[in-house]
Amino acid sequence: MIVNMSEAATEQQIAHVIERIREAGYQPHVTRGSERTIVAAVGSGRRHEIEALRVAPGVDDVVAIAQPFKLVSRQVKPERSVVNVGGVLIGGPGAVVIAGPCSVESREQLMATAQAVKAAGASMLRGGAYKPRTSPYDFQGLGLEALRILREAHQETGLPVVTEVMSTEDVDVICEHVEMLQVGARNMQNFALLRRLATIQKPILLKRGPSSTVKEWLLAAEYLLSGGNRDVVLCERGIKTFETETRNTMDLAAVALAKELSHLPVIADPSHGTGRQSLIAAVSRAAIAVGADGLIIEVHPCPERALSDGVQSLDFAGFENVMRGLALPLRELAQPLTPVPR
Ligand code: PEP
Ligand code: MN
Repeated sequence: MIVNMSEAATEQQIAHVIERIREAGYQPHVTRGSERTIVAAVGSGRRHEIEALRVAPGVDDVVAIAQPFKLVSRQVKPERSVVNVGGVLIGGPGAVVIAGPCSVESREQLMATAQAVKAAGASMLRGGAYKPRTSPYDFQGLGLEALRILREAHQETGLPVVTEVMSTEDVDVICEHVEMLQVGARNMQNFALLRRLATIQKPILLKRGPSSTVKEWLLAAEYLLSGGNRDVVLCERGIKTFETETRNTMDLAAVALAKELSHLPVIADPSHGTGRQSLIAAVSRAAIAVGADGLIIEVHPCPERALSDGVQSLDFAGFENVMRGLALPLRELAQPLTPVPR
C-alpha cells in the first residue's frame, strides 16, 4: 500500500503515518519527492489499518501497489533514481559507457585496456576477477590478484571499477578494491547473495537472468532495496530464445519496459546480448535510442588471445568506432512525396 501525503503535509503528520504503518505490521519506506512525500507500507500486515489512514491529517490518498515489486516501482518513487558510482552518475542526463575486458588476465592487459577505453571516452572500467564459466575447465579468473590490478588501474586512470561477485564469501574483499559490484546473469536469483549485497554501502549492477522475466528481474532488485541498498542499476544482457546466430537475444523492449516500471537506471550489455563483435556498434546505438542509461562493453587488446569471451570483445579501434557511432544522430525521417503539379 502507498500513502500519498499532501503537498502541505507537515513533518509531524509524516511521522504519524510512519508510526501507524509500523503499528499495522508493515515496514514504512519514505520517498521524498520534489513536490510531495510518499510513504510505502511494505510487507504483510493489517491492510484495513492502512486503508483507514485516508482520513489521517496530511494524507491525500491511500492506494494499493499494483505490482509485486514495491520499492523498485515508479508508483512508490515516480522520480528517476541516479546512482553515483565513485563520482560517475548513472541515470543522469548523460549515457555512461563502462568498458574493459571480460576477465582480468594480466597487469599489462588491464592497464593497456583501461588507458585505451578512457582515451576513447569510457567513464567506467569493467573486468572480471571471479568468473562464472559454464565449464569448470575454462579460465576461472585471477581472483584477488585481479582485484589488486583493478585497484591499480583505478588509481592510474581515475575510472571507477565494476567487477562481478559470485559468492557471499568474496563480498568484503571485493568491496575493498572496487566501486561497484556486479551480480551476473547466472546469479540474478541467488537470494543469499542478494540479501548480503543489500547490506553493503556500494552500488550494485544487477544483470537480468538469461531466462528471467522482467518481473523476476525487478523482484531480484527488490531484494536489494528492501534490504537497505537503494543504489541499484539494472542491466539487460540478452535472453535465451530459439535463435542460434546470436549468443543471446538482446531484449531492447525490456530496457524500455524496465524504465517504465521502475525508477532505477537501466543499462545494456550488447557484448553478451549479441555475442558478435560486428553487431555491437548498432545494438549500442539502438539501446541508447530506447532509453538505456548506459552500456557495458567488452574490450580486449587482442580479442583472438582473450581467455574468455574473445569473439564478442572489441579491440581498441573497434571500441573507438562504437564510441564515434554513439555520437551520430539517428537516421532522418523520409519526407512525404511532394505532389507533382498538373
Ligand atoms: C560478464 O559480464 O562477463 C558476464 C559473465 O556477464 P553475464 O553474467 O551477463 O553472462
Ligand atoms: Mn564476458
